Amino acid sequence: MEATEANEACGKRCAVSKERKLKFQYHWLEKYPWIQYNSTTDGMLCQYCTHIYKEDESVLKHTQGAWISRPVSNWKKALDKMKTHAASDWHKLAKAKYDAERQIQSRTRALLCASTLNQKAKKSTL
Ligand SMILES: [Zn+2]
Repeated sequence: MEATEANEACGKRCAVSKERKLKFQYHWLEKYPWIQYNSTTDGMLCQYCTHIYKEDESVLKHTQGAWISRPVSNWKKALDKMKTHAASDWHKLAKAKYDAERQIQSRTRALLCASTLNQKAKKSTL
C-alpha cells in the first residue's frame, strides 16, 4: 500500500515539475543558431529577421512582428514555432540578405585594406 501511495505522490510531483520545465532550452541554439534568447524578456527573436526587417512595415504587419519585434515565448509550442519560422520564406530571404551583407562587409574591409596598402606603397615610391 505504501509503495502505491509513494508512486502517486511522485506522479503528482513529476507532473508539476514537467509543467515547470517549460522554459527556454539552450540546446535549441545548436539546432537553430539564429535564435536570440533574452532572459530579461524571456523571449526569442530571430537574429536574421530582426536585422533585415526591423523597419520593414509590410513584413512586420504580415508576421505581426513575431520573431522580429515581438519575442516568441510560447514554450509549449516552441519547437513547432522554430520549425515553422525556419521554413518560412521571410526567414530564408532574411538569412540570404544577412549573409550577403556580411560578405559585402568583409569584401569592403578587404578592399579598404588593399587601398591603404597601395597608398602606403605609393608614398614610399615618391
Ligand atoms: Zn528569421
